[in-house]
Amino acid sequence: MNKLVKPEGAYPAIIGGERVFTAQSIEVIDPATGKAFATVARCGAQEVDLAVAAARRAFSTWRLTTAAERGRLLSRFAQVITQHADELAALESRDTGKPLRQAKVDVAFSVRYFEYYSNMVEAVFGSVIPAATDRFTFTTREAYGVTGHIIPWNYPLGIASRTLAPALAAGNCCVLKPAEQAPLSSVRLAELALEAGFPAGVLNVVPGLGAEAGADLSGHTGIDHVSFTGSVPVGRKIAEAAAGNLIPAALELGGKSPNIVLADADLDVVTPVVASAILQNAGQTCSAGARLLVHRDVHTELVSRLKDIFASTTIGAGNTDPDLGPVISALQHQRVSELVEIGRDEAELIHGGGRPAGAAYEEGYFFEPTLFDHVAPQAAIAQREIFGPVLTVTPFGDLEEAVAIANGTDYGLVAGVWTRNIGRANWMIRELHCGQVMVNTFSNGVELPFGGRKKSGYGVEKGYDALLAFTHVKGAVVMMSKD
Ligand code: ADP
Ligand code: MG
Repeated sequence: MNKLVKPEGAYPAIIGGERVFTAQSIEVIDPATGKAFATVARCGAQEVDLAVAAARRAFSTWRLTTAAERGRLLSRFAQVITQHADELAALESRDTGKPLRQAKVDVAFSVRYFEYYSNMVEAVFGSVIPAATDRFTFTTREAYGVTGHIIPWNYPLGIASRTLAPALAAGNCCVLKPAEQAPLSSVRLAELALEAGFPAGVLNVVPGLGAEAGADLSGHTGIDHVSFTGSVPVGRKIAEAAAGNLIPAALELGGKSPNIVLADADLDVVTPVVASAILQNAGQTCSAGARLLVHRDVHTELVSRLKDIFASTTIGAGNTDPDLGPVISALQHQRVSELVEIGRDEAELIHGGGRPAGAAYEEGYFFEPTLFDHVAPQAAIAQREIFGPVLTVTPFGDLEEAVAIANGTDYGLVAGVWTRNIGRANWMIRELHCGQVMVNTFSNGVELPFGGRKKSGYGVEKGYDALLAFTHVKGAVVMMSKD
């Protein structure tokens, strides 16, 4: 490990409470310009080894802290993040390209995760089990030990906080590998954790490439659990690496989530939410509402309203706070473009379809809000995750058909249902094959468990369930005696 002098604009790894600069670094790109504006450490096997060892050392005392102590630290961390909210939002907006106000929401979510688990940490109980009367039989909940966390670039701060807060609350020590496309807020988060008073080594961050630091971490024999959010192919690799070490993995992968609008829905409420469910973060959201399934009675009206919103969407660099920023990278722009080209032959393009016209959009990775109508359920654009600001519209005739289309992809993450009929809403909740259903809204707080079915992965994030998921249960039996 080389602790080199900090070059200008260089972000380190955080290992055992130290800022660590590596010999090689990675350029960090501003998606609005395509130009580098910072560099970050490029960790490899050596740094990952050191981070895992630092976490293991820290665990020897962290495991003996009380829930109340950890709760207080998490709460102080939430305050420190709040004090740095503007700085973090500006950094996140620059690094990911997302509109500033969306980055501010991400910071608020980050704060909320640490606050939520700081409150909840004292509610982790074992149980006393009625068994033979000559012995005392009970369970306790224990932390795994060292947990690995590999996260993507779309909501770096939000997802880092989502996975770290319950892991730390449960008493684990963490090693986080942020995505190479947007690593900076993770580094700042670890620095702020030290400022908040977390002991050295409890939270380590090893920026680097997926095939290097990512693979080194997920395959490391010194970790006890791995959490991953990202793509299906990499999720499979993480699961294989975890299987090699016989440790549990939690995988939050992609989605192709539907918003299902029944004929009785209030279109005034539906329209802006359905639009923002795909345009927020330029559609680069695992739980984006990427497919609109709409009853044929309201189909024409809703598409016309959506077209108006898409046409009036402002586009620009994230820090100018437009409605829509660029996508993350040239590669992502190309992926979106290719699927949209396929879509032109499959469906009716209503709006958008490519890079917006104008000099301001030539350098960065901008893509127009794009709306396809009359999309067949089996079309490639209705089946494959596009991860861009592209909405497909498919009309349906009855509820059975709507559910069949909704369930008819490889994914199963979330679904939105829009109706004022409570019986139908409840029937849909039962029949939809996904981890979360939202009725007459498309927002979900930190409190509601979140996790996929099918190729959307397995494991659970958020809510009380995520806290329990970072523990395992120990059973104990103690014989009674009078002497
Ligand atoms: P995307 O395709 O959207 O960029 P990925 O699934 O490739 O998403 O990336 C999510 C995270 O997984 C990133 O932190 C990335 O560096 C990491 N990653 C990529 N490849 C591997 C790998 N082979 N092993 C472990 N982590 C990886
Ligand atoms: Mg970036």
